[in-house]
Amino acid sequence: MAQADMVFYVGLGLETQVEAYLRDHPSKTRRDISFAQAIGISAATEAHDDHEHEEGHAHAGPDPHLWLDPALVERLIPKLKESVLAALKSAGAADAGPAAEAAATKLLTDVQALDTEGKDRLAPFAGRAIVTHHAAWSRFAEHFGLKVAAVIRPIETSEPTPETINKAVAAIREQNVTAIFVEPQFNAAAAERLSKEAGVKLGTLDPLGNGDWFKMMRDNVDAVVRVFGP
Ligand SMILES: [Zn+2]
Repeated sequence: MAQADMVFYVGLGLETQVEAYLRDHPSKTRRDISFAQAIGISAATEAHDDHEHEEGHAHAGPDPHLWLDPALVERLIPKLKESVLAALKSAGAADAGPAAEAAATKLLTDVQALDTEGKDRLAPFAGRAIVTHHAAWSRFAEHFGLKVAAVIRPIETSEPTPETINKAVAAIREQNVTAIFVEPQFNAAAAERLSKEAGVKLGTLDPLGNGDWFKMMRDNVDAVVRVFGP
């Protein structure tokens, strides 16, 4: 990062080491852009959001998984374009404007298309409650009309306690949950047991993907459709 002209990060405490580095290494030439800041979300603007706050929640405060909500990505694009453009100009690429404009417009169009497609495909399941692996999906769920009833790993870094599992079992019964979604980054054993015990279907949602945001989002929409579909 010492040689970066521009650092893009999510913010809201998601990347504590990145934020600490930027704070400790101020630079006149480096441009720092945070997703949260660019679209005006901070712990203060969202003092307490809707998603479940379990005891010892790993992400206390607003859900930082901003990229899982296409509406927020749409808001980010013009801000990101401005920063990239400013960085290119100060690096001497004075004629970068039209190309950056065109790229941003194309990106926005593609994100909007994915958003519309996802909404259309998920509309039949509006209001359904799901259980997720870690607390990454409140924004995705809200955007697409789903509801997160419980989270299996409220503390992202540790295996669920029996108490958490009991709470999830209760939430599944009370809120009529018919699907549990595991994430490839975590051990699925507890979720698998839970799905057997509660007689609930198991799907996979991937909050990170492999670098292709569009594929990741489409796969996640597919995963929900597959679990709820006929
Ligand atoms: Zn997370």
